[in-house]
Amino acid sequence: MKENETAFTEQEEQLIEQEFEALLADYAQTRHRQKIDIITKAYLFAKQAHQGVRRRSGEPYIMHPLAVARIVVKEIGLGSTSICSALLHDVVEDTDYTTEDISNLFGQKIASIVDGLTKISGGVFGEQASVQAENFRKLILTMSEDIRVILIKIADRLHNMRTLEFQPVEKQYKIAGETLYIYAPLAHRLGLFPIKTELENLSFKYEHPEIYAEISKKLADNKNSQMEAYEAFVAPIKLMLEEMGYEYRLEARIKSPYSIWKKMRDKNIRFEDVYDLLAVRIIFSPNTERSEKDQCWMIYSALTEIYKPHPERIRDWLSTPKSNGYEALHVTVMGQNGEWVEVQIRTTRMHEIAEKGLAAHWKYKMGEDDDSELDRWLRQIKDLLEDPEPNAMDFLDTFKLNLFASEICVFTPNGEIKTLPLGATTLDFAFMLHTELGEHCIGAKVNHSLQPLSYELKSGDQVEILTSTNQHPQKEWLGWVTTAKAKTGLRNYFKREDRNFIHLGEQLFEEELIRLNKKDVHDMALHRLLNYYGLRQPATLMLQVGKGQLSLQPLDSLLNSKKKSWWQNLPFISSKNKNNDNTEETTDTADNKNTADNKKTKHIILTEENEGIEYHLATCCHPIPGDEVLAFRDRNGTFVVHKRDCPEANKLKSSFGKSICTAEWKTHRINTFEESVELQGIDKMGVMKKVMDIISSHFKCNLTELHISAHDGIFNGNMRLHVYDRQEIENLCDEIRQIKEINYIQRIDK
Ligand code: MN
Repeated sequence: MKENETAFTEQEEQLIEQEFEALLADYAQTRHRQKIDIITKAYLFAKQAHQGVRRRSGEPYIMHPLAVARIVVKEIGLGSTSICSALLHDVVEDTDYTTEDISNLFGQKIASIVDGLTKISGGVFGEQASVQAENFRKLILTMSEDIRVILIKIADRLHNMRTLEFQPVEKQYKIAGETLYIYAPLAHRLGLFPIKTELENLSFKYEHPEIYAEISKKLADNKNSQMEAYEAFVAPIKLMLEEMGYEYRLEARIKSPYSIWKKMRDKNIRFEDVYDLLAVRIIFSPNTERSEKDQCWMIYSALTEIYKPHPERIRDWLSTPKSNGYEALHVTVMGQNGEWVEVQIRTTRMHEIAEKGLAAHWKYKMGEDDDSELDRWLRQIKDLLEDPEPNAMDFLDTFKLNLFASEICVFTPNGEIKTLPLGATTLDFAFMLHTELGEHCIGAKVNHSLQPLSYELKSGDQVEILTSTNQHPQKEWLGWVTTAKAKTGLRNYFKREDRNFIHLGEQLFEEELIRLNKKDVHDMALHRLLNYYGLRQPATLMLQVGKGQLSLQPLDSLLNSKKKSWWQNLPFISSKNKNNDNTEETTDTADNKNTADNKKTKHIILTEENEGIEYHLATCCHPIPGDEVLAFRDRNGTFVVHKRDCPEANKLKSSFGKSICTAEWKTHRINTFEESVELQGIDKMGVMKKVMDIISSHFKCNLTELHISAHDGIFNGNMRLHVYDRQEIENLCDEIRQIKEINYIQRIDK
């Protein structure tokens, strides 16, 4: 802002002097103790510090601090400390003077406020997101130290917005956007309604110049008829208030261009259809006989004798004031011409709070126990800021909450703002940025800490997506996304993946037919295989063959066993659910009929101590109690127990069909079996401890081996542990899966 440093003309010097006189005049009208000396000292010091410097508009720089000081006293209602701080607010930032200099000259209080203002001077949004987050933290720290920092900052921003026309266009956009995003809600939260409205309107004016001009013109065209309507409407109200004996004043409130535009956009209506352009405000001095609340309701009652109230549009902020301190009674009534008019009923005290925010509220207590009241209020805001988490961004969230109840705003690492629906996860965000990112997403850094794909984002989060080329979507991801983009992205991926597997399955099938030299019976082979696996759709079969879930192994016997019908090759059906008393009824292979020793056991019970029969567990598939198993009887009459889906067993099935029997486990609680599991998750502090707690404390399992490797914020692990049976390892895996950072855990066969 140090454009050209030339001495000021006499005329300019005069202008500066006039502005200072005006500031003192504004100050004289307040109830504050008149501390003219220190204000004059601050003014002279600032004037000298900014000597010769001009703003972009060409006017002397000191005009800006003077204007901010005037806003501070006149529009926010603050006193001498704030006025001095406002006058000095750019001194440390823009000149060679330091905070210590300010402290020496004006005392610690003013110095610390100026220091706070200097710290957040970079704007809420810096060049980078990290700077921005840091600025937020500063904002909060200084704010909770002294609320005046934030109030003066708002005044500073208001004046910059009022003089925004002198900035280049791209800067106008940036400043206007930032104002609408943070300063207007901030002003709203602090109860500074006129400032909030003005900030919104100015932002709107620079962001949408054409629409702004159009609405403003329509408002101007309408003005005369509106004022006529207003006069007609308030005439009986004036009589009523006089009869009631109140000292009062009435205000016509014409909706601002911004709020008209918002309504047009939100409700998708034309300017002409915005019905509540006009609002009427009754501000009265209450008498001391009754409570302010009662008197508001008495006026309400008299008013509704004149005009019919809309039953659903009464807003009672008397009984429960808004959290920003707003108190009033709003009612919408039908005017003479059948149009709805909002009437706001307030006492003079309520009005001042509404205009100047909570600062005015505390001013009212001045002289009583003024400090304790201010402290109480500051504590309240501090609580608000510190409550649920000491996270800088939650602050923003609190303010944004009412504005976007169903949306959240998050930031990319380079500070871009993205809007997502409430409940969106890191995975949604990844898909929003790019499908490719979504498909390879392994997690995200949210506010610099690692979070899983399923992490639900909050407003203000800064999110950096982490990817790995080895990562591919899993079916369960569908449960972690809410946005249409992510859902479609995942479904498309699965479709694509399925198509590839089907294709592979078909290829394998063809190759197997060539190998068996059965190309000519393609259709029959397909038919038999479908029947064998109990499937109908060739695509389903090929998909599972392609994925390796179903084997083509049976094809040979299916095509060679001319005498057998397809059903003779049905896979085993578990006898478990049947009545085990009669083992001979157990369904078995067709081979049984022809075997010489068909009196042999067809169903065995696997007890813990090899009671009755002798068996051992196959080393190929390593079954444990509870697994679905079958057994083969070897030459020595010993049963070898395999998992039912063991590829080795599948091989044996076709060649040693006659020696197969079904098997069933009895409870095992003496011996344990070693099992392996693999798991993957987000590499976050404490995750492995949670896993270990489940294994050793909860399940009391003996862990024999553990391998962990971490990369890109994701860890992969293998472990071996001792369990009694399948149920136990499954329960254990289920419980570990509940840990939010765990992506998957599964038992492996080796
Ligand atoms: Mn400034």
